[in-house]
Amino acid sequence: MAREKKIEEYDVVIIGGGASGMTAGIYAGRARLKTLLIEKSLVGGLATYTNEIENYPGFPEGTTGLELMNRFQAQAKKFGVKFKGTDVKSVDFSGETKIVETFRNIYKSKVVIISSGGRPRTTGAENEENFLFDKGISFCATCDAASNTGKDVLIIGSGDAAIEEGMFLTKFANKVYVSVIHDNGKMDCNEIAKAEALANPKMEFLWNTMVKRFEGGDHLERVVLENVKTREEVPVETPTCFEFIGYIPNTEIFEDHVEVNAKGYLPVNENMETKVEGVYAVGDVTEKFLKQVATAVGDGAIAGYAAEKYIAEIEVYQNQILSKDGVVFVYDASEEACREHLCDIDEIEKHAKGVFQVTRVDVYKSKGIANRMHIHRVPSLAVIKNGEIVKVFEDSFTCKKVCEAMGIADCSCAH
Ligand SMILES: Cc1cc2nc3c(=O)[nH]c(=O)nc-3n(C[C@H](O)[C@H](O)[C@H](O)COP(=O)(O)OP(=O)(O)OC[C@H]3O[C@@H](n4cnc5c(N)ncnc54)[C@H](O)[C@@H]3O)c2cc1C
Repeated sequence: MAREKKIEEYDVVIIGGGASGMTAGIYAGRARLKTLLIEKSLVGGLATYTNEIENYPGFPEGTTGLELMNRFQAQAKKFGVKFKGTDVKSVDFSGETKIVETFRNIYKSKVVIISSGGRPRTTGAENEENFLFDKGISFCATCDAASNTGKDVLIIGSGDAAIEEGMFLTKFANKVYVSVIHDNGKMDCNEIAKAEALANPKMEFLWNTMVKRFEGGDHLERVVLENVKTREEVPVETPTCFEFIGYIPNTEIFEDHVEVNAKGYLPVNENMETKVEGVYAVGDVTEKFLKQVATAVGDGAIAGYAAEKYIAEIEVYQNQILSKDGVVFVYDASEEACREHLCDIDEIEKHAKGVFQVTRVDVYKSKGIANRMHIHRVPSLAVIKNGEIVKVFEDSFTCKKVCEAMGIADCSCAH
């Protein structure tokens, strides 16, 4: 008999325990939200695979990925974030309450933050798994350029990332070999990058080649390429092979629940919001210009902060705005046309005393409550009765009209 899943409720559930997810946790936890972070393998995510992180601010001597991520986790725990080591199997974002399901549990949450990152695409060639990450196969030139100063390195791929990262590596390496599957002169990158790369004396192109196998002892020593036309083997002696043949975002389980773009990434706005209210995405799982710990942290901070505002707005909306009959004036305090109406609102409030409530919602600070009310023009005045919006005045309204809408017969308004 199938075991019944245990149900737990949270304010925020974070899917993925890398740099972005843990930062979101630190912000949400510190805002006293009941926060759960679910990580399926190693807390710390991709950053834990790198021995040296030299470009994360605050560590002038550098640090290891594991050490840095352990600090992130300690800080999140300090603010009460609960960690669960399990795989999220499915989600349901269709209702106001979001559902996140694991093998044993069902988690219900007001907010979900997706921070599931991604994984670099690999070649699948022989022995590749023996040399991944710190053993010679790298996916990050920014991270591993300095340690290859004066050495010969190999790049796999000819897209924009491969060529731009290759150009960057020429500042450090002695020689940058580039394995390209296409015929001489044919590359997948843009024409400007191509012209610059072909003119760079430190770059040497190995046309019509693919990786056949990786060789070495504890660390990579050699990559054996194969000419796809002649089948001839082309060995390249190198301690580091950079693979830039794409990145696979971990978004498979979200595909039917939130917008996923053609490349598999989750599109977000500047507040890290997806198009589904209450669902945010951060870090490498979003399509972004620079995938690094420093940028993942920025995303996480924004989402953690936004989650707190979103939850506060739900509470104001449900417990204040909808809980009593009244009117809600939606305005933008930075617009003069809106400010002019504030005197009318004062007058309405005078007449409303004790009979109905008057609430002012300034969209300059946040559009959350206005969006919830489906009000997109300011100024607007919404009439609430029995927990529902029954009328919306856009642009113009008079005290008399509002009293009428509220059913106040003996209104003594001047206009
Ligand atoms: C080899 C290497 C070296 C790097 N070196 C540097 C460097 O020196 N400096 C730097 O700034 N950046 C570096 N980076 C980049 C940096 O690691 C990433 O940008 C950063 O880790 C992104 O963090 P993230 O939280 O978005 O995702 P990730 O770190 O990828 O974390 C995502 C987490 O989500 C988990 N997850 C996925 N799906 C699920 C699921 N269904 N249920 C539960 N958990 C799930 C994964 O297991 C993973 O732990 C390096 C990257 C690599 C690959």
